[in-house]
Amino acid sequence: MKKLGFGFMRLPILTEGDFTSIDIEQVKKMVDIFMEKGFNYFDTAYPYHGEKSEEALREALVKRYPRNAFIIADKMPTIRVTGPQDYPVFFETQLERCGVEYFDYYLFHNIWKKSFAETEAYGGFDFIAEKIKEGKIKHFGFSFHDEPELLEKVLSRHPEVEFVQLQLNYLDWKSPSVRSEECYNVARKYGKDIIVMEPNKGGSLIDLPKEAERLMREYSPHSSNASWAMRYCASLEGVRIVLSGMSNIAQLKDNISFMDNLVPLNDEEKEIIEKVRDILEKDSAIGCTKCRYCTEDCPKSIPIPEYFSAFNTYQLTHNMGNAGMYYRRYANGRSLASECIKCGKCENHCPQHLEIRKLLEETAALFEKP
Ligand code: SF4
Ligand code: SF4
Repeated sequence: MKKLGFGFMRLPILTEGDFTSIDIEQVKKMVDIFMEKGFNYFDTAYPYHGEKSEEALREALVKRYPRNAFIIADKMPTIRVTGPQDYPVFFETQLERCGVEYFDYYLFHNIWKKSFAETEAYGGFDFIAEKIKEGKIKHFGFSFHDEPELLEKVLSRHPEVEFVQLQLNYLDWKSPSVRSEECYNVARKYGKDIIVMEPNKGGSLIDLPKEAERLMREYSPHSSNASWAMRYCASLEGVRIVLSGMSNIAQLKDNISFMDNLVPLNDEEKEIIEKVRDILEKDSAIGCTKCRYCTEDCPKSIPIPEYFSAFNTYQLTHNMGNAGMYYRRYANGRSLASECIKCGKCENHCPQHLEIRKLLEETAALFEKP
């Protein structure tokens, strides 16, 4: 299997700020190019794009290609499960939304301390075993953003898990909060296949500081920043798929250009990545991956990732004109960063363990000062 997976979480949209307005015609073209090149792994989830991602997959892929030509990965939205009765409801809804009879890969979405305890208590693992028996799930795993100690606990208690989806990228590899390397080592210790998510850290490894970009360009003038990040992950032993949330045809073609006949990183390239990591670690930008989990139950509907993106634009460019314009555009008709009531609900969901309340205060101080 080729290692590039098409993540349906950052699809092209028609109306800025409206994540449900998927540009389905462009997605169809992207799917066609992807399939034509021999790639076939697609990843979606219940909440992506305001619950429209699975339907987009059905329209752009399922209705247009034979079922055995592609692989679909979908995820049980653990965050919304309130008891055993919810599993069949979500699962059947997902089959219907995707227009399929079975899922090739099926995951518990975002296993962390609380969701793991709930999933065990609600009989989630038994539910999956039943669906495997019925032939409705071919391979079973979970996505994970928590600590390696918990990963060890889950894998030791559930040997039936076949694969783990981990946040891996060269910046988080040594990160004391994400601890990618340690999680990777645990997954390898248990012999699990690894699906990589966030190889570009939600785009943070695409827009690099000039100094970092210079190092990469000097070595390889025509390689994109994305190619360094993706090849870093794809070069790791045990990695089966590297997901990329591609938002347009140009990004798709770029990804295909280096993932088609993948060349693993050599020692010199690894050294350059170490240097780039050092540069980025000095940078104080917010490590938000734009996954949007935090926005699910924010009582003020604050567009948190968009505000952090504006903040990061300022950190990188020190150009208040542009960054301020982004902030005002995102804020148009929505709650301001300063309107956060500090309930903390968002922080419970943030896989990057960001102190969202504090960071929103800093964002408000930057953009809302008189
Ligand atoms: S702490 Fe603020 S941003 Fe977070 S959920 Fe509550 S109101 Fe929303
Ligand atoms: S703040 Fe955290 S949960 Fe929200 S989009 Fe960013 S990374 Fe995701």
